[in-house]
Amino acid sequence: MTEHAATHYRIAVLDPAAHLFEVRCTVDTPAAGGQRFRLPRWVPGSYLIREFARHFVDVRAMTGASGAAVPIAKEDASTWRAAPCTGPLTVIARIYAFDLSVRTAYLDTTRGYFNGGAVFLCPDGREHAPCTLEIVPPDAAACVRWRCATTMTRADPATWRFHAADYDELIDHPVELSEFAACEFAAGGVPHQVAITGRHAVDTGRLQRDLARVCQWQIDLFGGTPPFPAYLFLVMAVGDGYGGLEHRSSTSLLCSRNSLPQAGMAEPTDDYVTFLGLASHEYFHAWNVKRIKPAAFVPYDLSRESYTRQLWAFEGITSYYDDLALVRSGVVGDVKFLELLGRGITTVLRTPGRLTQSIADASFDAWIKFYRQDENSPNALVSYYAKGALVALALDLQLRVDGRVTLDDVMRALWERHGATGVGVPEGGIEALASELAGRDLGDFFARYVHGTEDPPLASLLAAHGVTLELRAAAGAKDRGGKPAPAGAQAAPRTWLGAKVGGDLRLQHVYAGGPAERAGLAAGDALVALGGIRAAAEALDRLAERGAAGTRLAVHAFRRDELMAFDVEIAAAPLDTAFLTLAADAPPDVRARRAAWLGARPATA
Ligand code: ZN
Repeated sequence: MTEHAATHYRIAVLDPAAHLFEVRCTVDTPAAGGQRFRLPRWVPGSYLIREFARHFVDVRAMTGASGAAVPIAKEDASTWRAAPCTGPLTVIARIYAFDLSVRTAYLDTTRGYFNGGAVFLCPDGREHAPCTLEIVPPDAAACVRWRCATTMTRADPATWRFHAADYDELIDHPVELSEFAACEFAAGGVPHQVAITGRHAVDTGRLQRDLARVCQWQIDLFGGTPPFPAYLFLVMAVGDGYGGLEHRSSTSLLCSRNSLPQAGMAEPTDDYVTFLGLASHEYFHAWNVKRIKPAAFVPYDLSRESYTRQLWAFEGITSYYDDLALVRSGVVGDVKFLELLGRGITTVLRTPGRLTQSIADASFDAWIKFYRQDENSPNALVSYYAKGALVALALDLQLRVDGRVTLDDVMRALWERHGATGVGVPEGGIEALASELAGRDLGDFFARYVHGTEDPPLASLLAAHGVTLELRAAAGAKDRGGKPAPAGAQAAPRTWLGAKVGGDLRLQHVYAGGPAERAGLAAGDALVALGGIRAAAEALDRLAERGAAGTRLAVHAFRRDELMAFDVEIAAAPLDTAFLTLAADAPPDVRARRAAWLGARPATA
């Protein structure tokens, strides 16, 4: 039956030096009135209209064995319609692929990579038809040793031929073609592979050992059986980069090569912990957002924005569990985990926009705000990742104090009712479920911290778990928080200008209500002189350390090409830098609660 006839795809490395893929899509029985083809405009996991069609260099169509040309024309930015013809109809596109991000496609002589949504057209009316895919191995001399890594189902283990049940499945298995390094481990009884592309040196034994513990812990959290037959971490190691995108049984990660574990490493370095947190985050998404989904994503409509006020839960709860999985699985110790939490609290405290935008609103407006940040974003926006993680932490700790369930139970219930069944989570569904499991109405909690802009009461909730939250002023531009003030830092109160200054002495952000804003300085201004002396990064540091709140400072700066003078009243630096410590004098019941939260292991780094 034509209803169920497969759509055939073929992707070939056309010219790696020109970064061109050629992609073909063949429909055996085109629609009578002319077959329409659409390309997604966004990719699940990254909530911005990206218009992948802008990288389609040209598109043509042909029919039958003769290859006779069929007219094809665009109907809108992402849609083409071929003239009526008898099948088979093949559309052929040349696609420019040179985006190193995890979202689209990349091709050069070292590597080919693609996310299906950026390269595969979907024939109208065939969204649910099965798909076949042939990846044509490159014949360029530089690429002959390439291998292929993907979790798409292979039609035949020896060739690069695959099949998918429908279009949605076709585009949810990114593909890496390169001479990647690979290692494997088992977790939950299923094979896990890591494929690492890019120049790097990595202790694969350490990497697979640590990832195996993190993955196993997450599998156990959700009941012990992975929801996929195999899992793949696609890792692109670069000099400087960071990003990840979740898929149903794989993830694409972009990381600094220095964040991969090196031979001889004892305690995990800060960079490696960052990498593990990223891998853990995307893996957790295999449950939370790839299967437990907001109802607005069931099914995905990739032709337009899909609005939900729940990204705080799908990203924030995931951000809470990504690092929690590291400590619960024993990959990092309690002290390191508390440092990570302290940094997360610091990030949110340094965002005045948290007092303006709720994380529910931040979720809804992700399409126009979170993914389109500008110089005023810190004053007007809050990250549903960063504050969402703190709300998840507060919810977990509150549930633990109440004593009936924990956030783990909420996640398992979400899995059973929504993830395993495919029923989307309605708006407000997580609030209702948490209240149901807690046995009391948590509406006030969600009204304040999710739908309102209050800071969650972390100090008291952490104290109830034997952890002390303290605040101090930042000790310098690179101070991310999480630790007490470094030894030797001035004990005297620090001061600030109320602006973030870049290495080029330009103001990147001017914080709402701060001294710089009150004096009339603006983002983009280039500092020239402070107190009549040429501006320099060291002078700013010295000012922060030795300035006195209330004194006035003459500041000269260029706005565009115009020199301007400002009179800034120096203010005391805000206490916006958090660090957490294990309370040594916690009574036994509090210690027991802490151990239950962090996992019952020795409290050392
Ligand atoms: Zn995420």
